[in-house]
Amino acid sequence: MGATPLSGRRALVTGGSRGIGAETVRRLASDGAAVAFTYAASATEAEKLVADVTANGGKVVAIQADAADPTQMSAAVERAAAELGGLDVLVNNAAVAHMAPIDEFPADQFDRLVAINIGGMFWATRTAMKHLGEGARIINIGSINADRIPGAGLSVYGMTKGAVSSFTRGLARELGPRGITVNNVQPGPIDTDANPDNGGEFPESLKKVMPLGRYGQVGDVAAIVSFLAGPESGFVTGANWNVDGGFTV
Ligand code: NDP
Repeated sequence: MGATPLSGRRALVTGGSRGIGAETVRRLASDGAAVAFTYAASATEAEKLVADVTANGGKVVAIQADAADPTQMSAAVERAAAELGGLDVLVNNAAVAHMAPIDEFPADQFDRLVAINIGGMFWATRTAMKHLGEGARIINIGSINADRIPGAGLSVYGMTKGAVSSFTRGLARELGPRGITVNNVQPGPIDTDANPDNGGEFPESLKKVMPLGRYGQVGDVAAIVSFLAGPESGFVTGANWNVDGGFTV
């Protein structure tokens, strides 16, 4: 294990079984934090992640909890705090996307996006407030689609990520006096199951509008999250951190 800037920190990552969340779990653990993560369906991936992190000497706990369900989300936060002996860092990462024209956007998908992307973040944060004190960090994973929508079909997803951005600013205002920072990491296209860099029409169209002309990797986002979770980011709050290859330029 290398440097451990997060030694002694206790972190919860929602939606940590795959993609950006899983890499964030790995990174926070290798930087010295004790980490809990939630997942909904991917039990096999969650078990593998626990085995990997543990094999590397990290402390990690997997908690099955549907972010769309306020009761499960709140119980997961309480369990994380109990297992880790407290909580210093909350990473609200769990989210889903659905693309469709507004005329035919399915009602169940609308409810799902709002319940997970907005509701999950709200309930995790509200419950975590019982545990977060001076020096704690809340890091929301928004999306560059809060600021730029490059094509049709993303209005509802973009709306939920706009909510992440404004929730971040409101919380930063409210929690600053308590010594808690709140930031919003806004990834651009990152190669995951949700947005695979598979040579298809969609990913290629995104690369065309990006100065760097390529997708990012999950580690690009996890590195920023780790910095925001650590001791050197204490004067940064209420900010949007674009990790997007220049998508908004
Ligand atoms: P993935 O689909 O690859 O992974 C999503 C993770 O969230 C999985 O671990 C999944 O677990 C979990 N999850 C999904 N629904 C629920 C739920 N109801 N309850 C608990 N956990 C859940 O997504 P990404 O890694 O790509 O995205 C992570 C974050 O980054 C999201 O907030 C997304 O909006 C944001 N983002 C991603 C971008 C990209 O290009 N990849 C771009 C901009 C933002 P399980 O399989 O167990 O359900």
